[in-house]
Amino acid sequence: RKHNGKNGTKLFDPLMASVAQERLKIERFIETGLREDWFDVHLQPIVDLECGLIVGFEALMRLNHPEHGLLPPADIIRVAEETGTIKRIGERVFDKAVAHLARLSSLPGLENSYLAVNVSPLQFSAELPASTFATLMKWGITPSRIVFEITEAVLMHHSPEVRQVLEALSAAGLKIALDDFGTGYSSLSYLLHFPVNTIKIDQSFTRSLTDEDEAVRKRVRMLVTGINTVANELNCRIVAEGVETEEQLQALVSMGVGHAQGYYLGRPQAIEIIESDLGRALPR
Ligand code: C2E
Ligand code: CA
Ligand code: CA
Ligand code: CA
Repeated sequence: RKHNGKNGTKLFDPLMASVAQERLKIERFIETGLREDWFDVHLQPIVDLECGLIVGFEALMRLNHPEHGLLPPADIIRVAEETGTIKRIGERVFDKAVAHLARLSSLPGLENSYLAVNVSPLQFSAELPASTFATLMKWGITPSRIVFEITEAVLMHHSPEVRQVLEALSAAGLKIALDDFGTGYSSLSYLLHFPVNTIKIDQSFTRSLTDEDEAVRKRVRMLVTGINTVANELNCRIVAEGVETEEQLQALVSMGVGHAQGYYLGRPQAIEIIESDLGRALPR
């Protein structure tokens, strides 16, 4: 059959059509979500491995659709970055996250807890510092309690504008974390050239700590120990991500890694759940 050959003219690709439809659907969710206030943040505790106490929370965006329930952020962020709505989402999510931090600050032990917020490369415009400080002022939170988690994609182009924004944020005491550390290219050079003060060890390393292959386990332990040494020397905080088992936790503790987060230590949860869990954990 001629039409099915390599050069056959396709008027319609059902696969492409469904991708486009999916995208349109997400775009509509975003627009309606911004209008109808469907965006929220879940918080995942970050734990100090020396004392076992919660020292901070990572804010993870959720779109709470009235019919479809909670939608995971990855797809939404991808579409929002393509369409440019990421800035409005970012501002909305930051406002909610800071409000949550202000609320949690009244709980004993959390007065000085920090909030880590993921910031997309596309949010790094000259207005970011001013809008950030305005939100912090609104909720009475000092900038030193905020960490912006960025990926190498932000730093890759060494743009002077990005540097200025990072320096303005840092000068006010806000911290910058390099997210997914170790998964991209030349991460180490970013530690030299930008005001980064937290390193987040990617989940893949944490997982490898309990790999079935002993050689892998040994090598990843050396690697994590090395990153930890570098971080300490540079006065960087280090946070291991994706801790799912007691064994991984113990490995990180034995290597002297400072902070960690993961399902084993606490899942991302709505603030009401965090509050009631913490309330229950308190000594009476
Ligand atoms: P990320 O910043 O690397 O966030 C960690 C992801 O790992 C989160 O997925 C979290 O729920 C998940 N996680 C936490 N502990 C564990 C664990 O023990 N095991 C496993 N397997 N996963 C764990 P989530 O919430 O689906 O977010 C995915 C990504 O979406 C984030 O990766 C981040 O890059 C992005 N993201 C989330 N919220 C925001 C936001 O408000 N703004 C922007 N720009 N990006 C966001
Ligand atoms: Ca993150
Ligand atoms: Ca990460
Ligand atoms: Ca990631």
